[in-house]
Amino acid sequence: MLILKTIGEVNAWHENMRQDQKSIGFVQTMGALHPGHISLIRKANLENDVVACSIFVNPIQFNNPEDLEKYPRTFDDDIRRLEEVACDVLFAPTVSEMYPGKDIVNDNYNFGHLDKVLEGQYRPGHFNGVAVVVRKLLEIIKPQRAYFGMKDYQQLKIVEALVKYHEMPVDIVACPTLREKDGLAMSSRNVRLSHHERVIAPVIHRVLTEIKDKTNQLTPKEAQIWGVNQLNNYAEIQVEYLQIVGADDLLPIENWDEKKGVVVLVAAYLGKVRLIDNVIIK
Ligand code: AMP
Repeated sequence: MLILKTIGEVNAWHENMRQDQKSIGFVQTMGALHPGHISLIRKANLENDVVACSIFVNPIQFNNPEDLEKYPRTFDDDIRRLEEVACDVLFAPTVSEMYPGKDIVNDNYNFGHLDKVLEGQYRPGHFNGVAVVVRKLLEIIKPQRAYFGMKDYQQLKIVEALVKYHEMPVDIVACPTLREKDGLAMSSRNVRLSHHERVIAPVIHRVLTEIKDKTNQLTPKEAQIWGVNQLNNYAEIQVEYLQIVGADDLLPIENWDEKKGVVVLVAAYLGKVRLIDNVIIK
């Protein structure tokens, strides 16, 4: 696997490949790779000639300094995993390579309500930071296809909107959420859960799937309240939001038939670890 650290090195790699007309599949990550990430790389491998992955813990998408500081970094293990899955290229830039000079990050994206609701309400500036880095990485790597996990559902919608608005020549491929056997969505942050928190954590997904089973008994509003109450039964869990919304516009729904697609999304703290998850209801 080729490990590239600078944009110049990526440009040189492109130069070398130019005559070959190879399609590039790209997976952006913040490292601490787990099977969820690897599933994206496998899919990219099946659908493209060349697979590129990036590892960059993007400081400007963290609104909580402790979360940034404690974010797991396992670079050597990550390289081993990427080599095992036959990733061709890893782009792993430094912060100063991506953001040379503090004042340069002055893009101000506005995705209408898409970046204000759910995560946007609790993590101000987060999606602006995401949009800046996604656009930058797509422009550097120039993939034909870029793979994003549905685990970060709202991020996926923002990326789709970003690419559409800027008419970027890339297909965004949505990939299903990989879960532990007990249902917990795989996440780099899971390693920060204590043993006790890890035992409780699967309840988050369980409640979401039970909401899916209750659509003929409860209205969306009732199902939402039921779900929050279920999670509130656990002293260790602090729910930030649990909302049932249209799958495309992320706006709350009044009844189940109102929108073609419906998704339930949750963010909750288990101790100091913030977890998000979602389940497509229809
Ligand atoms: P991250 O390193 O958390 O920024 O994630 C990098 C990419 O992997 C994003 O597109 C995520 O949505 C995706 N991803 C993270 N966790 C999972 C998972 N459990 N299943 C599928 N994709 C995931």
